[in-house]
Amino acid sequence: MKNVFEKIINGELPADKVYETDSVLAFMDINPNVKGHTLVIPKKSIENIFELEGTDAGDLMEAIVKVSNAVKKATGAKGVNISSNNGKEAGQVVFHLHFHVIPRFDKSEFGSLPHQDYKDGEMRDFADRIRKEL
Ligand code: AMP
Repeated sequence: MKNVFEKIINGELPADKVYETDSVLAFMDINPNVKGHTLVIPKKSIENIFELEGTDAGDLMEAIVKVSNAVKKATGAKGVNISSNNGKEAGQVVFHLHFHVIPRFDKSEFGSLPHQDYKDGEMRDFADRIRKEL
């Protein structure tokens, strides 16, 4: 069954599109964290970042940069948050890869992610494990 973003890509569902190429699409988030919140997605069926490869990644990043600049200028925002939830545990609700571009005017709009403390040696251990996977 097609998810909402696949339906937007093939025209079955309406969206307020702001940018489109052969490989990417950007449109307004219907339920914005901050007004002007825009989504950037690949047109290819890619569920999450773990499936993204090759030139698709480059095309997507190029579009994210373009859209970020446009959102900042158009809204008069001082900055933008760029985020992507990958996996349901990370808060992904629509299982088609997407990047949120959220204009920010003031820190009071919403807080930042919480932080944790490492025990002695723990950060190095995480770094070792991550390096081995790269
Ligand atoms: P996520 O939690 O990262 O999967 O976010 C999904 C996002 O898609 C949310 O910010 C929703 O507001 C947005 N969304 C869901 N349906 C639509 C739609 N039909 N048009 C635009 N944005 C949508």
